[in-house]
Amino acid sequence: MSPRPPSDAGEVARLLRQRVEMGASDLFLDDVTRAGLLDLAAAAGRGGGKKPAGRESPPGPTPAPSGPPAGGGPTVLPADYEELRSTALTCTRCRLAETRTQVVFSDGVVNARLVVVGEAPGANEDATGLPFVGAAGQFLDLLLATVDLSRKDSVYICNVLKCRPPGNRNPQPDEIESCTPYLRKQLELIAPQALLAVGTFAAQALTGLQKPLGKIRGEIHGYQGIPLVVTYHPAALLRNPGWTRAVWDDLQLLRQVMDGL
Ligand code: URA
Repeated sequence: MSPRPPSDAGEVARLLRQRVEMGASDLFLDDVTRAGLLDLAAAAGRGGGKKPAGRESPPGPTPAPSGPPAGGGPTVLPADYEELRSTALTCTRCRLAETRTQVVFSDGVVNARLVVVGEAPGANEDATGLPFVGAAGQFLDLLLATVDLSRKDSVYICNVLKCRPPGNRNPQPDEIESCTPYLRKQLELIAPQALLAVGTFAAQALTGLQKPLGKIRGEIHGYQGIPLVVTYHPAALLRNPGWTRAVWDDLQLLRQVMDGL
């Protein structure tokens, strides 16, 4: 008889912890298929619960840009959070304004303990206006739940780029340069206790290091005095289950940092 698959994020965490304690070098949950993990992630996301104070309301459609097709936007960004968000929603600083459906500013709580920074919206995010709502996002929620963190009450999530690159191509350097002032301002205003960068683009943008992710992860960095942990992108983890151990270790490091604060 095959073993019963884990039924919630707590059980996933327990299983992974057990394997670490047993000294397993390969931490992937062999009994759980990719589809099974995604089901689990979806169930974790449906967890329900009361909407806490500070949760952002879901975005409405992005107003049509009123300025030139690209290259526009104020040079000094507002210091007020809602004004910053409204400014971003009509941004035309780069070519992505021409192809996006919606600007994807953030999700989660503004009084967050942790800010997670990803790369850029994909098709689901472009359609809904919320970051990390596709398969990778559901997996991210499951990973965060294994260390007792959730966008419902303790996490704010955003991306380096606020608009979807067509066909999910990699962000281009000038797009990152145009968009990072929004990210910097978001981080300044949210002022979390810790930061988690997922994937190479976020890790490089926040550490300033132009190295592969495998050479940046595994230690505590700092961004403007805020402790920063970097790890693999959940989408990459879904493709490379052998990286589970590394992501698990990074999340434990993050938890230690946050518990020590
Ligand atoms: N990948 C990201 O990096 N960000 C998202 O919002 C969705 C997928």
